[in-house]
Amino acid sequence: MDKAALRNYFLEKRAALTPQFVDEKSREIVNRLVELDAFKQAKVIHCYASIHKNREVDTSEFISVCQRLGKTLIMPKVLPKGEMMHIEVNKDTAFKENRWGVREPVEGNIVEPDYPDFIVVPMVAGDRSRNRLGYGKGYYDRFLSRSKGVKVGILFECQMYDELLPTENFDVPLDILVNEKEVI
Ligand code: ADP
Ligand code: MG
Repeated sequence: MDKAALRNYFLEKRAALTPQFVDEKSREIVNRLVELDAFKQAKVIHCYASIHKNREVDTSEFISVCQRLGKTLIMPKVLPKGEMMHIEVNKDTAFKENRWGVREPVEGNIVEPDYPDFIVVPMVAGDRSRNRLGYGKGYYDRFLSRSKGVKVGILFECQMYDELLPTENFDVPLDILVNEKEVI
């Protein structure tokens, strides 16, 4: 299967998950995420705001934990032409939904892609070599090629592909994958 076919397959599989399943497994994933040494050592965390109706791993509790621990939190904001901007957020930051329904900071301190030291990456599918299949727009490939932080993909176990995912030279493999069953 090529990337497009795999994307459809795994997105359909994820769409069939119940909200209760997503909530429960997301908690387990976040529990594993915050136990990672790389997280404990990190001062600057990059994380996206998840979309619940798309059955994405829920990042809201993780974001709260980062704020409680006093970590600097950076969130992305998409720009035209496939680039993302990275903005420091705090309790006073205003958010607005973009055209895909993703909550983004309206304004704030803009940082460079190499500033975060721990990056939480959304995935449509992953494999045991930590390759990533994303939504097909390449936003994270562009960002991660310029980042220096530890790249941590989060996904449900049912989004793991048993074979190698197809990759192209611009695809950036991740350092760690976390699902509700294991850390890879
Ligand atoms: P995704 O990673 O979201 O699953 P793809 O890997 O298929 O999606 O990439 C989507 C598009 O993004 C590709 O057509 C590719 O040309 C473009 N792209 C990816 N990385 C880069 C990069 N570093 N610079 C420029 N374009 C890129
Ligand atoms: Mg890619």
